[in-house]
Amino acid sequence: MELGLKGKNALVCASSKGLGKGCARALAQEGANVWLNGRDAATLEAARLEIESLAAGEVSSICCDITTKAGRDKALGATPDLDILVNNAGGPPVGDFRSWDLTDWESALNNNMLTPIELFRSVIDGMIERRFGRVINITSSSVKAPIQHLDLSNGARSGLTGFFAGASRQVASYNVTVNAILPGRFDTDRLRTSMTFAAQKSDQSIEELLEKGKEIIPAKRFGSPDEFGALCAFLCSTHASYITGQNILMDGGLVSISP
Ligand code: NAP
Repeated sequence: MELGLKGKNALVCASSKGLGKGCARALAQEGANVWLNGRDAATLEAARLEIESLAAGEVSSICCDITTKAGRDKALGATPDLDILVNNAGGPPVGDFRSWDLTDWESALNNNMLTPIELFRSVIDGMIERRFGRVINITSSSVKAPIQHLDLSNGARSGLTGFFAGASRQVASYNVTVNAILPGRFDTDRLRTSMTFAAQKSDQSIEELLEKGKEIIPAKRFGSPDEFGALCAFLCSTHASYITGQNILMDGGLVSISP
C-alpha cells in the first residue's frame, strides 16, 4: 500500500533507540524526510546511519534533550514545515509512590505530559495552514490499565491523554489528526530497566522475569519496535485521515483479559 508519505517532513522525538527508532525507520522507509533525536551523540549518529541506509528520503539528526526548552527550540529550529510530529521521551522511573516528592512529579509531568503539549502547540498552526498534520503520541498501556509501581507514568500519561482528547477534536477539520499508540510490552532497553525494580524486589533475575512476562501476554511474546513503527507509519499516512483522537493499544492482547 502506498502510504502517501514521500517528501513529508517528520520529527521523531527520542528516536535513537527503541520505539521511537522503530517509528523513524518506518517513516524513512516510506519516503518521509526524518529528523531523529536523542541525547547521546554517538548512539544518535549510529541510528541515523542505520536508518539512512534503508531510507527513501533524507535522514537527519538533532542531538538534544527534548524535555528542555533549549532542546525543543533546537529541534523546532531545525525542522521547518513539519507534517509529522512523533512525541516521545524516556519514561519515568519505576518505584514506590511514597518515595516520590514534588520534584519527581514535576519531572514526570514535564517529560511525559508538558513536553508533547509544548511541541504540539508550536507546530499546530503550520499544520492547519498546510491542511495536513499527523501527531502521534507514544504513551503506554497504563493509560487504559494503570501499572503497579509506574505511578508517575500512570499520572503523567493520563494527563496527556486528557489534553489530547479535547485538542484533537479542535483540529480535526483541517486534516490534522492526533492519535496515541499505547505500547504494552516491547523488547527495548526500557523494558529491561522496568524489570530491574521487580528483580530487586524478588529473588529472580531480570532474564527469568522477562520469560515469565512473556507467558502472561496472550501473544506469548514481546512486541518489536518494527511492528510499532508500522502502525505509526499507517496512522501518519493519507489513508488514516479519518482516525483521530484515538488511543490505540498495541499489546499482544495483554490488557483487559480476565485471569
Ligand atoms: P528506550 O528503548 O529506552 O529508548 C528511549 C529513547 O529515547 C532513546 O533513543 C533515548 O536516547 C531517547 N531519549 C530518552 N530521553 C530523551 C530525552 N529527554 N530527549 C531526547 N531523547 C531522549 O525506550 P522505549 O522502550 O523505546 O520507550 C519509549 C517510551 O515508551 C518511553 O516513554 C517508555 O516509558 C514508553 N513505554 C515503553 C514500553 C516498552 O515496553 N518498551 C511500554 C510502555 C511504555 P538517549 O538516552 O541517548 O537520549
